Amino acid sequence: KRVEIPVSVHGIDPSLVDERAVNVVRTLKQAGFEAYVVGGAVRDLLVGLRPKDFDVATNATPEQVKGLFRRAFIIGRRFRIVHVVYGRGREHEVIEVSTFRAYLDNAAAEQVAGNERTSKSELAGMKHAVDSTGRVLRDNVWGPQEEDAVRRDFTINAMYYDPETQIVVDYHHGLKDSKSRTLRMIGDAATRYREDPVRIIRAVRFAAKLSPLGFKLEPKTAGPLVKSQKLLNDVPQSRLFDEMLKLLQTGHALASIEQLKVLGLATGIYPLLDVVVERGEQPFVAAALKDTDRRVGEGKPVAPSFLLACVLWADVRDGWAQRLQSGQHSHPALQDAIEDVFHARIGDVSGRGKLAGDMREIWLMQPRFDKRVGSTPFGMVEQPRFRASFDFMRLRADAGEIDETLADWWQEFSMASDEVRQDMVDQVR
Ligand code: ATP
Ligand code: MG
Repeated sequence: KRVEIPVSVHGIDPSLVDERAVNVVRTLKQAGFEAYVVGGAVRDLLVGLRPKDFDVATNATPEQVKGLFRRAFIIGRRFRIVHVVYGRGREHEVIEVSTFRAYLDNAAAEQVAGNERTSKSELAGMKHAVDSTGRVLRDNVWGPQEEDAVRRDFTINAMYYDPETQIVVDYHHGLKDSKSRTLRMIGDAATRYREDPVRIIRAVRFAAKLSPLGFKLEPKTAGPLVKSQKLLNDVPQSRLFDEMLKLLQTGHALASIEQLKVLGLATGIYPLLDVVVERGEQPFVAAALKDTDRRVGEGKPVAPSFLLACVLWADVRDGWAQRLQSGQHSHPALQDAIEDVFHARIGDVSGRGKLAGDMREIWLMQPRFDKRVGSTPFGMVEQPRFRASFDFMRLRADAGEIDETLADWWQEFSMASDEVRQDMVDQVR
């Protein structure tokens, strides 16, 4: 049932709504379409968090949306959406606009896939997007707002906010659940995990993100999680990798690891994530996770290469030491140790070349921090990956792996004038 909630009840502060999202909604409405801020932004506004991005949902098709904005791009094949872009360079902002989708359970999806004109699609006046094999892409079947709400995951993620009228549209008691701090899957949780097993990881992520506010997974939502975990075996590795990064890089890494343990999902979601959970309490990895959460909290950028380099450092260090012992020279020993770690832990890194390259550089730079003679330090600070490598070394010092004074020296050196730098180098030895 559709419920319209006025501002006097939901209390969203309109000044927290991104003006570009407001502009997108206004433009769509002026063109005669329905449009709302939707999903995570509405949830965050309701509980008093500042949304990190704003999504808009509309009954306009991607082509119609694109036609209304100067800089708008249709992206995605499996799930076509429009990116409306404002501003340029580092300050640019993207508002994601998605068309209301029909909710298709698996049976309905197969029916649509097998038949160009099904009763279901005719009923809702939907359009099909067809992939190269002629198969209908279930996620691109348009539908009314009511169905768009059903196919979303959690009740608190399925609300629509009109910034002009300040009305929140709620079909699944999302407001009540957000007030009672309940994370509840829409519909039958086990079925929804089967439809898309990534929702299992999303449950962990939102439980972690919202736990400081007192949110808990509702028992029927948490209940089937462990039994459903094996469904993740059928999810492409690349999607699991991305979801792992969202667990670790959206400011709630420590809380996510905590939730994985509490919920009985500490192993088996993704191999690298197993390693993170396993090592989460080792001083160096714990420091890296804490530092990542802090940085995200302060609005600073974080790179997956940095965190993963931290998580896998113990393997690199051990392999390196072993090879040194068997008489190999330092640099090739480190290089070979790094290759071993990529083999054992990351596997196929195709498409992740930059990530692997950045990790490699951070690791390969570590022994060079010991060489504080001649022109070496001057060259070091000019390296593009100096900052990341230095931050990495600083964490090693924090964790007691190397001398704190070495990190201090480099900190000072990196910020000093050339003259002072020369003095600093002269004083070493
Ligand atoms: P965040 O603040 O982390 O971005 P979010 O709720 O905005 O959280 P997104 O991944 O940006 O999460 O997705 C936007 C919205 O799309 C969600 O709020 C939810 O309504 C819907 N959604 C996303 N992924 C799924 C999914 N796998 N199954 C069902 N609904 C989903
Ligand atoms: Mg979002």
